[in-house]
Amino acid sequence: MLEKSALYVVATPIGNLSDISLRALDILAKVDVVAAEHIQNSRHLLAAHSITAKLISLHQHNETAVTDKILTLLDSGKRVALITDAGTPGISDPGAILVQRVREQGYPVIPVPGANAAICALSAAGITHPHFLFFGFLPTKTGLRKRELTALKSQHCTLIFYEAPHRILECVTDMIDVFGTQRQLTVARELTKLFETIHGGTLGDTLAWLQADAHQQKGEFVLLLSGAEIPDKSEVSEQARHTLTCLLDELPLKQAVKLATQITGENKNTLYQWALDLKAAKHPE
Ligand code: SAM
Repeated sequence: MLEKSALYVVATPIGNLSDISLRALDILAKVDVVAAEHIQNSRHLLAAHSITAKLISLHQHNETAVTDKILTLLDSGKRVALITDAGTPGISDPGAILVQRVREQGYPVIPVPGANAAICALSAAGITHPHFLFFGFLPTKTGLRKRELTALKSQHCTLIFYEAPHRILECVTDMIDVFGTQRQLTVARELTKLFETIHGGTLGDTLAWLQADAHQQKGEFVLLLSGAEIPDKSEVSEQARHTLTCLLDELPLKQAVKLATQITGENKNTLYQWALDLKAAKHPE
């Protein structure tokens, strides 16, 4: 039995029509109304699972007005499901305004999890860094896009973007302008579909790979960009090495290390070890 006066936020496939949970199908078959981003696309999905549902349209441009309608439905005890064209509603998709207002009115909002392009890409990319930041779509204009990318430059976590096929080349080019050619980029294209491709390499190599084959520029994309490298704490910076080398020429080792630590702010033990190594290298036994 479904709860009365509840909103079900239901994830749908991102390509392969079978990627939908049994629970999602059950709910979509039983609710009174399904609010869908594009009625035609959703009819196709529901028909593939022999579901006939009353559909109303809810998209980016009418979400506020349709939210009023849905609240009236909930007031009268109806059960409503929200779906979008692909994946999880509210993730780079409409839904947040509706969910917020339904929650404000005290009605239950029940998530029904399933496909999401970012998580799908991440699961198959083999990225060992444990943290990621989901950004979604970057701005469409190159100036604003570079500004957003620059603001992310020192993030250590993997950065996840959605991108459209007609902007894929300019987006990767902008990434190179901001991050250089050596960061790793995984391109996850057409996930769960016929031409599914997951390709990893440096930004420079990946741009060349995309440029070499126009087919690889088509379809839907998730981009996973490696984060900024975390500096190795055991490494001694160029400045500290220089300072310590000068001081070691004039002072005993302990004193030189003490002063170099004060001047550079680097770890005393690391500098001490480096000084010992330098001494050993200069005067091998
Ligand atoms: N709500 C969806 C989700 O949960 O992933 C995202 C919707 S957003 C409007 C659509 C974007 O998601 C596409 O432009 C693309 O960047 C990404 N995307 C969706 N399906 C994809 C797929 N099958 N393969 C790769 N990227 C996909």
